[in-house]
Amino acid sequence: MQDCLFCRIVRGEIPAAKVFEDDDVLAFKDIQPQRPVHVLVIPKKHITSLAHVGEADAPVLGRMLAVANQIAVDQGSPDGFRSIINTGRVGGQEVMHVHMHIVGGQEPVGPMLKR
Ligand code: AMP
Ligand code: ZN
Repeated sequence: MQDCLFCRIVRGEIPAAKVFEDDDVLAFKDIQPQRPVHVLVIPKKHITSLAHVGEADAPVLGRMLAVANQIAVDQGSPDGFRSIINTGRVGGQEVMHVHMHIVGGQEPVGPMLKR
């Protein structure tokens, strides 16, 4: 995807504060952190959203979950974290390339949803 922001980060065309990388996933710090730890984990392959996944995407989506705790611990959230994937208009997704937010720090992140 030529113009996709996160694909451009994967290709190194836009700088990002990378915190983890393997063949299939990349993790980097959110540019507007909402908690002391706020990292985005993305598949290197373009997947628009969770509304656009196919059976073949299951391994990379599983990989995103599998690396989450180590990233959280490494970044300063040793006692847990919250993982969030926003999907589509109703989910409030702003960047149309699947990404999992990892938010945390030393203190609890707070209620799951604001009323
Ligand atoms: P979402 O609302 O789930 O689509 O979240 C998009 C997230 O991407 C927001 O938390 C933004 O702060 C973050 N973001 C946007 N541009 C960048 C960037 N260039 N580098 C890192 N994070 C970004
Ligand atoms: Zn993309």
